[in-house]
Amino acid sequence: MRTLPLRYAPHPGEALDSWQEFLAHKLHCPFTDVLRALGLPNRDPALAAPVLPRWTTLAAREELAAIAQATGVPETVLTKMTLQPFDGHAVVILTERRQVHRQLLWGRSGSRFCPACLEESGGRWQVTWRLGWSFACTRHHVLLADRCPACGHIPRLRAHPRGETPRPGLCASAAPGTGPRPRRCHHRLAAAPVTAIAPDGPLSQTQRLIETLLVAPDRAVCWPLYGPAGAPLGVVLRDAKCLGALVLNHATSTDLQPMAPADVLDQLERYRTDPLPTTSQRTPDTRRVDRHSYFAPADSAATAVAVAAAIRVLQAADIHAAGSAVQWLTDRVAATRRQLHPGNIVGLGGTVSPALEAALRNSREAQIMPVARLRHRTAIHSTRPPADQDVRARMLPTALWPAWALRLSPRHPDGKPVARRADELLAVACLLVGNTTSIAAATRLTGTTVSSHNVSTLLADLTRRDDCTDVLHALILLADHLDTHGAPIDYHRRRTLFTPRAHFLDPQVWRTLQSRLRSNHTPGAAHAQRWIFQVLTGSPAHLAHPDIAPTSASQRQQYQRFRWRILPAEAELLRHTARTLLDEHKINEPLQWAPCLPARSLRHLVLPGPDPARITAAQLHRATPVGDFSVAQLAHTLKTTTAHVIYLLAEDPVDWSPPQFRRTQQTARRIKQWRTWYEHDHLSLQDIADREGTTLATVRLALLKNDVQLRPAGFYPGRPRRK
Ligand SMILES: [Zn+2]
Ligand SMILES: [Zn+2]
Repeated sequence: MRTLPLRYAPHPGEALDSWQEFLAHKLHCPFTDVLRALGLPNRDPALAAPVLPRWTTLAAREELAAIAQATGVPETVLTKMTLQPFDGHAVVILTERRQVHRQLLWGRSGSRFCPACLEESGGRWQVTWRLGWSFACTRHHVLLADRCPACGHIPRLRAHPRGETPRPGLCASAAPGTGPRPRRCHHRLAAAPVTAIAPDGPLSQTQRLIETLLVAPDRAVCWPLYGPAGAPLGVVLRDAKCLGALVLNHATSTDLQPMAPADVLDQLERYRTDPLPTTSQRTPDTRRVDRHSYFAPADSAATAVAVAAAIRVLQAADIHAAGSAVQWLTDRVAATRRQLHPGNIVGLGGTVSPALEAALRNSREAQIMPVARLRHRTAIHSTRPPADQDVRARMLPTALWPAWALRLSPRHPDGKPVARRADELLAVACLLVGNTTSIAAATRLTGTTVSSHNVSTLLADLTRRDDCTDVLHALILLADHLDTHGAPIDYHRRRTLFTPRAHFLDPQVWRTLQSRLRSNHTPGAAHAQRWIFQVLTGSPAHLAHPDIAPTSASQRQQYQRFRWRILPAEAELLRHTARTLLDEHKINEPLQWAPCLPARSLRHLVLPGPDPARITAAQLHRATPVGDFSVAQLAHTLKTTTAHVIYLLAEDPVDWSPPQFRRTQQTARRIKQWRTWYEHDHLSLQDIADREGTTLATVRLALLKNDVQLRPAGFYPGRPRRK
C-alpha cells in the first residue's frame, strides 16, 4: 500500500466522503484513484449501483486502519468523520447494509448543507449534516438547505461518480434529463438560497442544544422530566420524534406561531401541503393523518419547528409541567376523529419513554374517564402502566376505614352524604388504583354489593366537585401505601370467616352488663352482634348474616346511634369478645387498623372531610355533656361536622352515663399514680386496670381526659407483624 503524496488534514467535523473527494480534487485524479490509494475496494459486486457513500455511514475497522496508514490521520479522528459515534443514539445503522434505518430516530439519506459554511471551507461537508436532527447552522444563523436549487436533488444521496474528478462546492448530482451517462449538475451550492433565523430564537437555541448533546452521544441526558438518572440520548430523541410527528401531523400554523417566524412557517406549510415531491419515500400506511409519523421530515423548516416544539415539552420541569406544555398538541389530536385515551395515546407516535407517556396521559387528565385516572395514577404523574393489583383486595376492608371514609366522602352542605354507601364505593376505588381489573370484578373482590354504576357515579362526582379535587390523589396514596407496606390485617380472611356467622356474643353477658350500666333504653344484643361483626371484618352491618343485619331504615338508624352512643364499658366488652374470637382462630393480628399517611403528603390536598385527628380524644371527652346530648350541638361546640363527631364518639366512646352508673368515681384520686405507671413504668392499660381492680375502659378514659398520650391501639410490642 502506498502513501498518498499529499497529506491534507480533514476539517473539524468533516464527513469522510467529503474529505475523500477533497483529496481527489487536490490530486487532480478521478475519485476511484483515491479510493484505491486508501485501500478501499473500488468495485464491490455485492453492492449494486447506485453506490452509497457507505464508508461515511460505517467504516469497518480494517478500512479505518488502511485509511489511517495511507493518510496519517488517526483512526479515532476518522471514526468521528462517520455516523458510527451516533449509532444507537441519534441514528440506527443497519450494519450489514451500511445504511441508516430510515424509520428509527429520523434516519435520513443524503445531507443537508449550509451554503455559507461551504463557501468558507471551500466545499467541505460536515458529517452531522447527515443527521435528521440537524436543521440549522448555528454559526451563520440560517436553516440548512435541503436540496440543490438547480437540479432539485438531495445532495450526497449517492457516492461521487468514481470515474470523475470531484469539484468541491459544486453539486455532484446528475443534471436533469441527461440520459444514462448523465452530466453532473455542478451548480455552485454556496449560492443556494436559505432562510435566516434569529441567533437567539427558539430554533437556534434548539439546534445549539442538540449540538451539545451530539458532542457526547453516549452520555445520559439529564433533563428533569427523565428523573435524577436522566435518559439515554436515543430515548430523548425517540420522544422528540414522536412529538415532532404529532406536531407535523396535527399542529396548526397558529399553534406554531410562538415557535418560528412567518417565513419559516410558510416553508413548513409548503412542505406539509406537498411533503414528498421527488423522493422515493413511501409511508407504509397512507392514512393522511399519519404521514409524518414514520420518516424524518425532508424539509429543514419542518424539522426545525417540530424539534423545537418537541424539545420545549421534553425540557419541562416535571411530568406535570410537560403534560401542561403538550396539552395544546394532544387537544389537536383529540379534535381529529381519533379517540384519545391513555391506552392508545402513545400508539400515535411509536414507542416513547415512560416519562413522556405519563406526560401525554396527564395532558388528557381532564378528559379521560375518572376510573382511567385511577388506573393510570395520573394524580401523582405516575410513569407505571396499570397492572393486575387484585392482591390489594386482601388488605382492604369492604367499607373504607372510617377515618378515611370521613375524610374522603363528599357531603351536601347539610351534612348528608352525596352517595349512599360511599365508604364501600371508596374501597372499590382504592382497589382500582393502578389496576387493570374491571369495576365489577373489583366490587366482588372487596366483598361489597354496590354496582359498577354506583362506583362510576361516585368517581364522576369526585372529579366534578371543587371540594373533592384531590380525593383520587389520596386514594392513590392509600393504595400505594398498602402496596409498599402491606396491612397487618387480612380482611379477606376475616370476611370469609365471620360473614357467615350470626352469633358473636352471648346475649346474657350483654344483658348482665346492661343491668349495671343503664337504667332504661338498654340497647338490644343484636346491635352488639352487629358491632362485633363490623369491627372484625371492616364490613358494614348491612352485609352481616341476615339474622343480625339491620333490614329496615329505622333499624339502620338505631344501629348508627348505638355506635356513637356506646359506653366505654360496652365497647370494652365487645372488643374483648372480638379479640377472643380472633385468638380462637389463632389470628395474630391487631383487632383493628387503618393506614397512616405522612401528614406532609396530604397537607396541600383538597379533601371533602375533616382530618379526624384535628380533635383529640381529650377535647372530645371534655366537651361531651353528661346524659342526653345532641351530636349537632357537640359538633357546634367542637367547631366541626356532625359526621366528624359521630366518628370520634364511635372511636373513643365517652362515658356520658349519669353519676349513679359511673364507674370512674375513684379516678380523680388515682390518676396521678396511673399516669406514672403508664408513662414511666410502661404498664399497659390492662395491667393498670388489673392492679386497681377496675376496667381497662376506666383507666383509658381517665388517662385520655388528662391529656396522656396513649400508645396506638393495636400496638403490641413483641408481636410479629403479619406479612
Ligand atoms: Zn454555516
Ligand atoms: Zn444540482
